[in-house]
Amino acid sequence: MFQNTIVRTKVLTGLLLVLVTAIGINTVSMASTLEPAKIKTAINKAYKDYKKLKEGANADYIPALAKVDPNVYGIVLVTTDGKIYSEGDLKTEVSIQSISKVFTMAKVMDESGPDAIYNAMGVDATGQVFNSIVAIEQYQGSEMNAMVNPGAITATSMVKGKSEKEIWNKILNYYSDFAGRKLSVLEDVYKSEAATNQRNQALAMLMYAYGHIKGDALQATDIYTRQCSVGVNTKDLAIMAATLANGGKNPVTGKQVVNSKHVPEVLAVMATAGLYDDAGKWLYRTGLPAKSGVGGGIIAVSPGKFGIAVISPPLDKAGNSVRAQKAIADISNALGGNPYAVKPR
Ligand code: GLN
Repeated sequence: MFQNTIVRTKVLTGLLLVLVTAIGINTVSMASTLEPAKIKTAINKAYKDYKKLKEGANADYIPALAKVDPNVYGIVLVTTDGKIYSEGDLKTEVSIQSISKVFTMAKVMDESGPDAIYNAMGVDATGQVFNSIVAIEQYQGSEMNAMVNPGAITATSMVKGKSEKEIWNKILNYYSDFAGRKLSVLEDVYKSEAATNQRNQALAMLMYAYGHIKGDALQATDIYTRQCSVGVNTKDLAIMAATLANGGKNPVTGKQVVNSKHVPEVLAVMATAGLYDDAGKWLYRTGLPAKSGVGGGIIAVSPGKFGIAVISPPLDKAGNSVRAQKAIADISNALGGNPYAVKPR
């Protein structure tokens, strides 16, 4: 009996030791991946490495975007405990453009549940450019996603409200909660895009014709154009990304913005189609759900760890910022941000 107790105590102590060691190792490895000094080094290095890069060109199909200074270059990383690390331009606002699609989709999920998105336009990559008419025709407006224009305009049409004004205010306030400050529209960008968005109107009309948009397709296009013209700086975008990294709760303001239940679906669509038909290449290199905009911004999310954003207007052929892709990939990989990368036990 006495002997037994000793054996049992020894076994228990042994187990406890193993447990404590395991927890200890875990804590050390987590802490070392997101050590402030390591984050700063990674950001500084990526900033310097790509500062002189001259690849890509500003979007010019929206005239106002061609006029944006191509040298604007900022990097911000926000951890899920609300610490902010940055390098370069934090203040210059560019239009959010397609990055807005993530947040409008999240709003629809909050209001109507994730199945509403699944059923209305789908959650699959199109393999086509973001404003492709072929992508609609292929499956009559199904089997696509809310990150390409037809799906995004459809998502905007699903935000509830009695008037255009009420819907718009709801969208703008929602984006502002993600950023943690009151955002507003860059009117010159809005006017420029509204005067030249006939193609988006055509996409919306087709989505209406196939029964995906139920209400006023042109009103939805106008609200969508306005949402794309919201001005954001690199810090705003990084906090928006960090809110998604932190289960939908803004790590700086502490406000729960999107229901944490829906964050996995939001991130899944970003992973599938956030960088359009180059989403696969991006995921292969980084494992990060991300979203780009033709204004030059990209956000990426390392779930549970950090959100990161880079603004740099010159884009590649798929419409994704060249510098932003390179800088985010390097920084995340240096910090162990890839959610698929796990050390074997
Ligand atoms: N407002 C832009 C458009 O509709 C958004 C596209 C983008 O950022 N990829 O064409």
